[in-house]
Amino acid sequence: MDYSLRDSGPYTYLLEWAESAASDEWEAVAQAVNTFSIEDPTPRNYGKQIHGAYRLTCVTAEQTIISQPFPANRYGDGQHAAVAGEIIRKECLRLRLQGDESAGWLYKRKLWGEACDSCTDWNTGEVVNAGCETCYGTGIDGGYWDPYEFSVSLTTHKVHNPSTGGKGMTDPVARGFQCLAFPLVAKGDIWVKAANDTRWRFQRIDYLAELGGPIILAGEVRQVPSDDVVYELARPA
Ligand SMILES: [Zn+2]
Repeated sequence: MDYSLRDSGPYTYLLEWAESAASDEWEAVAQAVNTFSIEDPTPRNYGKQIHGAYRLTCVTAEQTIISQPFPANRYGDGQHAAVAGEIIRKECLRLRLQGDESAGWLYKRKLWGEACDSCTDWNTGEVVNAGCETCYGTGIDGGYWDPYEFSVSLTTHKVHNPSTGGKGMTDPVARGFQCLAFPLVAKGDIWVKAANDTRWRFQRIDYLAELGGPIILAGEVRQVPSDDVVYELARPA
């Protein structure tokens, strides 16, 4: 998506499938409105249909945008797909064993969408109120996509703090994290820990395992200060 997109909504997405990216025959497989993720409900054997491709169309109040086709199979041949599947299975098990410690919700930060009309300066596009309860300081209406049930394991994490010169000082609000790359987490996204409602902002993201694309992510999150407007984000019951 083009991150500068600020058209009026709703934004309707159409996912299409074809046997090859060069095909003229695109089959509509899914449609969704105002969302960050869309799934093909049809089970497909990408190992057999190795050239299969998707493309995404976005319709706003002002225009229709069609993406370049992208490959359906991210992992190459069947052998690679099996390895990827095994890595994913092990990570799911590791997260599940942590129970409440890793249960929570992911709030993907909106990177495109209608500009917030409560706080954004129309001339400059700049956010003028970091505490805005319409866009949560992002400048885009709604601020974040609907929460997505998502497990993250937090680790204790030594952070070198240059201001105190204290090597290996533990920063109480910074933690290492590890999670699956589906959906792909981006810097600025928020994770809410279900057990205690603490809110964490993704700060740095590395690919811990990748095979044609990221599978497992690691990096650093920081606990959001309790007076931050993201604590106003509604959480599922
Ligand atoms: Zn706003």
